[in-house]
Amino acid sequence: MVKNIAVIRGDGIGPEIVEQALKVLNKVAELYGHTFNYTDVDMGGCAIDKYGDPLPENELKKCVESDSVLLGAVGGDKWNDVPGNMRPEKGLLRLRAGMGVYSNNRPAKIWKQLADASPLKKSIVDKGIDFIIVRELIGGIYFGEHKTENVDGKSTAIDILAYNEEEIERIGRIGFETARKRNKKLCSVEKSNVLDSSRLWKKVMHKLADEYPDVELSDMLVDNCAMQIVKNPAQFDVVVTENMFGDILSDEASMITGSIGMIPSSSLGATTCGLYEPIHGSAPDIAGKDLANPIGTILSAAMMLRYSFDMAGEADAIENAVSAYLDKGYRTADIMSEGMIQVGCEKCGNLIIENLRKV
Ligand code: NAD
Repeated sequence: MVKNIAVIRGDGIGPEIVEQALKVLNKVAELYGHTFNYTDVDMGGCAIDKYGDPLPENELKKCVESDSVLLGAVGGDKWNDVPGNMRPEKGLLRLRAGMGVYSNNRPAKIWKQLADASPLKKSIVDKGIDFIIVRELIGGIYFGEHKTENVDGKSTAIDILAYNEEEIERIGRIGFETARKRNKKLCSVEKSNVLDSSRLWKKVMHKLADEYPDVELSDMLVDNCAMQIVKNPAQFDVVVTENMFGDILSDEASMITGSIGMIPSSSLGATTCGLYEPIHGSAPDIAGKDLANPIGTILSAAMMLRYSFDMAGEADAIENAVSAYLDKGYRTADIMSEGMIQVGCEKCGNLIIENLRKV
């Protein structure tokens, strides 16, 4: 298969970690006979330096025209004083809007080799943690009207939470499709005992379920879900939820897995062209020191293969290689523990490639 990938190295540790992910993708291409073509895209601080704009139209066009986008991270102190609409992070918001991605998907997976890094009890971690939160990204209360006005002589703040059935249906589909590519269990999370928007959410999810008879749908109230994530995370496969609930639950879920450097993410919309990036930022404190953990980016590349390119075997091969690397005791500084072998960013990439086998 031939795939065209837009590559945004970005700022800080971005270039170092993306380099490792590209090496892994090249090895996958070699093993499976694929061709991955890369188009470099400037975004973030480096684009401000070059063009005076964090994401010029032409750079965005390269992303929209690609089969998918791989991003390292953007931002850094150097650009703290630029005007708000020219900040590196604005490039990211424009990229998401320009690509029309309305779903953010974040896996919460505990690697058995790193179980000690989880704040949860061993007895809970031992049951396994491996689920994805599919969060609606461009609707709900964050995008509703916000105002503060005087009502009956009191200053009163109002935030509107609105969802229409189309917005719910399209994120629901991403939830069902994601579950289809995993263990076929989808948990829809809402607050239907209180909110009208949640009652509509639930209704639409159940209507959609008729189209996905192979996926088992369940419902859970958001307050219960927050408890279940720490009490019994092994029960989840895919969780689908609205913007604000997803914001909170996905941070909770990433905490229980231990290390920020290990977690990938994807953002998807109506097409298979997705945006894949680690959840961490540009880590300027360790940039250029060969200290960064590239695994979040390497696993983001694996997600790209699984969810945008329908290459499940290839994605499994990358995840197996990461697991084999951890089994052999290698650790970057962020996850280093006693008795393990510390390696730098580049060596980590090389070792993962050495452990990559066709499945
Ligand atoms: P950060 O995620 O960059 O760093 C937080 C801490 O985690 C730091 O100590 C860092 O060294 C460490 N860390 C992060 N990723 C790591 C990795 N792969 N390996 C080892 N250690 C890692 O968050 P921050 O310090 O709050 O933000 C730094 C910059 O990144 C800011 O300019 C911020 O705006 C930007 N940012 C960008 C994105 C993005 O591009 N998507 C997301 C968040 C923050």
